[in-house]
Amino acid sequence: MNSHLPDLAAGIVKEVQNNLLIWFDSHARDLPWRLTPSHYGTWISEIMLQQTTVKTVIPYWKEFMFLFPDVESLALASESEVLSAWSGLGFYRRASNLHKAARLIVKNHNGELPRNRKQWQAMPGVGTYASGAIASIALGQVVPAIDGNAKRVLSRLVFSDPELCIQTKPSELERIANQLVHKQRPGRWNEAIMELGAKICRPSEPKCSECPVFDYCKAGPAGMTDQIPPTKKKLSAVAISLATIVVQHKGHYLLLAPGQPVLVGSSNKFPIGRSDTSGLHKGLWTIPTSAWFHKSGPSDEYLTHPGFVNRWFENSPLGVQLFPFVKSVRLHPSFSHHITHYRLKVYTWRVTLAENGQIASLLSPPEEGFCKILPLLNFEENVAIFSDLSGSLPISKLVAKSVESKLKEDD
Ligand code: SF4
Repeated sequence: MNSHLPDLAAGIVKEVQNNLLIWFDSHARDLPWRLTPSHYGTWISEIMLQQTTVKTVIPYWKEFMFLFPDVESLALASESEVLSAWSGLGFYRRASNLHKAARLIVKNHNGELPRNRKQWQAMPGVGTYASGAIASIALGQVVPAIDGNAKRVLSRLVFSDPELCIQTKPSELERIANQLVHKQRPGRWNEAIMELGAKICRPSEPKCSECPVFDYCKAGPAGMTDQIPPTKKKLSAVAISLATIVVQHKGHYLLLAPGQPVLVGSSNKFPIGRSDTSGLHKGLWTIPTSAWFHKSGPSDEYLTHPGFVNRWFENSPLGVQLFPFVKSVRLHPSFSHHITHYRLKVYTWRVTLAENGQIASLLSPPEEGFCKILPLLNFEENVAIFSDLSGSLPISKLVAKSVESKLKEDD
């Protein structure tokens, strides 16, 4: 049975709005997108902030705004440049969608950013929450923006009975959210309720004694915050083992271009597959990588077998005969890495190429730019290059961690 939430009394709405806005005016964090507010900057910050903490986003937002200060510069950039600026921030589809939206805006709308929530929602990667946030903060449109923090605050404000909270349709809570949006300061209101959720009305142990809306809250005074809203079952972590291969020569590393069918397991022991089964690293440059193995199999033995690197190159569709040029192959202690609900145990093999001989001259620092094709290794054009990682190729954190991982006795 779905429950019907009664509207809040007009007097309560006013009191909650006033108290929260007064609190926010003196407690708002000095975030860079608040200090120099702009329509474009708000859009970038809202997309970056999805599933990412404010602390992580700040340096990325500043750098992104420096590299792409407006929608035109973003549209003109290549996808690789955009992904590069996003490298390490994760959830790379957000960056691709941002880039697509910028191109759409420039091509179809003369570079003019959407003028309301509906238009924003038509843009790639902009959903209900982000469109509400951008339209209210940057355009002053009276619409709510309900992220996880706001939803928690709203639920606690109106429910003291956990069962009722579970039975009530989301649209009922949205109606209350609509009612609460401040008509003159909608953006400020949305920021305030989200900030309250982040700083005071935290998921566990909320600081109710410091809360500006305590007098109007149902769950807080009733001591029900541990049950409202009900905690979602977390996706249980999936344990994965994999191995990466760092091929290096004089500070340069073998990188593979996005979209290549990089390896695989062993053709006789494990099924062949793409290295990144999740597609989470679409558009990024990578390094030779094993398939992702569920922890239950005999994968660790396979991934750490002394013949692993050799097998990788033998089975690779790249057709590279690396071994005549190898000086040493060493296995690093494994490191752990988390991607969404995957808990990865990553073994890294480090292959150092010989100093001299034919291969050495091919791998010398690039003559032009920061990359060089290696035709004599039978790499197809744009498939594999040696690149200085300080260059601007987009890579994932997993690749960066593999390249940076060191043997204990490493040089
Ligand atoms: S009183 Fe407590 S539960 Fe209610 S909104 Fe404030 S912090 Fe959240």
